[in-house]
Amino acid sequence: MPIDPTQPYDDDNIFAKILRGEIPSTRIYEDEWAYAFPDINPQAKLHILVIPKGKYVSWDDFSARASAEEIAGFVRAVGHIAREHGLVEPGYRLLANVGAHGGQEVPHLHVHLFGGQPLGRMIA
Ligand code: 5GP
Repeated sequence: MPIDPTQPYDDDNIFAKILRGEIPSTRIYEDEWAYAFPDINPQAKLHILVIPKGKYVSWDDFSARASAEEIAGFVRAVGHIAREHGLVEPGYRLLANVGAHGGQEVPHLHVHLFGGQPLGRMIA
């Protein structure tokens, strides 16, 4: 079910539990600002989720409320992960779903990083 991106942050959402280590995940990358782990239902050969450590419901919430430091740290983490996986030369895709029309299902901001194969057109 898509979420309402204007709702207050829910501390019990799945990704909050993953950040607290209450639900297992495989750590791909972690720093002060971001945590990255494989999507449980991969849509490409490489499908990584990158989430901020802070409590933000969506990209909208993050862009409105996060500090410049948090935004810079998160964006740099996403770029770092892509470079670490050798994705720059072949290319990759970033996606952040927001709310019902975006098909967002988890109410903690996450960026999908897809790669490892040609990804076709942006929207099927
Ligand atoms: P959204 O549709 O909100 O942009 O994407 C949510 C993503 O989270 C989906 O691609 C889904 O497969 C992934 N996901 C949902 N629950 C879990 C989980 O418990 N662990 C992991 N690793 N991924 C999850």
